[in-house]
Amino acid sequence: MYDLIIIGAGPGGIFTAYELIEKRPELKIAVFEMGNKLDERKCPIDGDKVKSCIHCANCSIMSGFGGAGAFSDGKYNITNDFGGTLHSYIGKKTALELMEYVDKINLAFGGEGTKLYSTTGSDIKKRCLQSGLHLLDASVRHLGTDKNFIVLSRLYDHLKDKVEFHFNSPIQKVEKIADGFRVYNGEDSYETQNCVISVGRSGSKWMEKVCKDLGIGTKSNRVDIGVRVELPAEIFAHLTDELYESKIVFRTSKYEDLVRTFCMNPRGEVVNENTNGIVTVNGHSYEDPAKQTNNTNFALLVAKHFSEPFKDSNGYGESIAKLSNMLGGGVIVQRFGDLIRGRRSNEERISESFTVPTLNAAAGDLSLVLPKRILDGIIEMIYALDKIAPGTANDDTLLYGVEVKFYNMEVELDKNLMSCHKGLYVIGDGSGITHSLSHASASGVYVARQIAEK
Ligand SMILES: Cc1cc2nc3c(=O)[nH]c(=O)nc-3n(C[C@H](O)[C@H](O)[C@H](O)COP(=O)(O)OP(=O)(O)OC[C@H]3O[C@@H](n4cnc5c(N)ncnc54)[C@H](O)[C@@H]3O)c2cc1C
Repeated sequence: MYDLIIIGAGPGGIFTAYELIEKRPELKIAVFEMGNKLDERKCPIDGDKVKSCIHCANCSIMSGFGGAGAFSDGKYNITNDFGGTLHSYIGKKTALELMEYVDKINLAFGGEGTKLYSTTGSDIKKRCLQSGLHLLDASVRHLGTDKNFIVLSRLYDHLKDKVEFHFNSPIQKVEKIADGFRVYNGEDSYETQNCVISVGRSGSKWMEKVCKDLGIGTKSNRVDIGVRVELPAEIFAHLTDELYESKIVFRTSKYEDLVRTFCMNPRGEVVNENTNGIVTVNGHSYEDPAKQTNNTNFALLVAKHFSEPFKDSNGYGESIAKLSNMLGGGVIVQRFGDLIRGRRSNEERISESFTVPTLNAAAGDLSLVLPKRILDGIIEMIYALDKIAPGTANDDTLLYGVEVKFYNMEVELDKNLMSCHKGLYVIGDGSGITHSLSHASASGVYVARQIAEK
């Protein structure tokens, strides 16, 4: 009988384990993770022998110690304005305090010396407003992919003798028993008084099943659909040098839809992402100048939420991503100039582009994939961004599609992030409440403190 079993070793799971060990070192804790140890996580795409996603049983980008965040840019946004709605459960003040606490731990485990960017007092806000763009307030700690990896390695070294880690150990089932829960991994089962489920986006389908099995309520969440934009770093340098990441929201004049920038990676790389076998696009960048590229990338996303009679927002996003996978074998890339001229990009046009792509994607036509309303909104925003960052609407700006940000169904939880079953907590992106490293990590610290006090 364990005191706590944590399912999933992403930021949510790691920070639950970390905080509980700090507060109650005598407790018996196990972590079950379906992916590999951090140093055994390797995406087979090498750009040479393996050029595109080969659909590994466990995607090393999304699974393993460090979770989906392990090879990410390590941008910890300290804000209640985006990244999740944790504050609506635990209060804005507590949420910010926990994010700041997580930041301190990251610094202590190898992130010292990294820069904290802030929108406070920035003149960029005014320039955005003059062009109908709205810059959201945040402080951003940019660890960078390389430092993020070091922080995770050190956290693992710190935890590995205090917590029992089971890698390559997916949990298939969670069962309620008289004095706690029983979890199943293949033929084996383990019992625990408390269980924290932190399975992220890769565990979204499984999480739905667990909720169904245990009678836990859920409600449908939104899905964000769009493209990843890649352009020469100089075009956005005045924004990224000052803010690193600028979250900008724009209301389109045509449909009054909100389009927003997301996950900005100065001098970064565009990468594939595999969620439940569907290949979409993402991006990251390194803190180490030697690993940086000449390009900056960011996503432009439009949120869609379906409720009645069709509720499956994620299913809608998946169908669009599948369409791009069908036409391009994976991610499609198109020059902005080709898109607005109504023609597909081909390999020749991409190879002649002054913006050199950092991801080897199939040249194609995004207008055959994205619904008109979404595409119109993205084009309108590109022209709006061109006013604060001239050059954004250049012909050679590259658009990769599709970028889909799936959100898990929102699990019905109380203010302690506990389900209707006493001792069963659901945290991080798997709960549908958080969508970011900082919020997921903070939710882990929060439940660890609840368990420690019991
Ligand atoms: C390429 C990329 C870049 C990103 N960049 C940023 C960024 O810069 N800033 C930011 O804030 N966010 C970023 N994100 C999002 C961020 O990584 C997530 O918000 C965060 O990792 C969520 O943490 P989590 O612990 O909730 O879930 P995850 O990190 O997804 O971890 C969940 C873990 O659970 C495991 N799991 C799933 N099902 C089971 C099961 N049944 N049994 C056992 N284990 C299971 C998975 O293998 C996974 O390791 C990025 C994501 C990607 C993919």
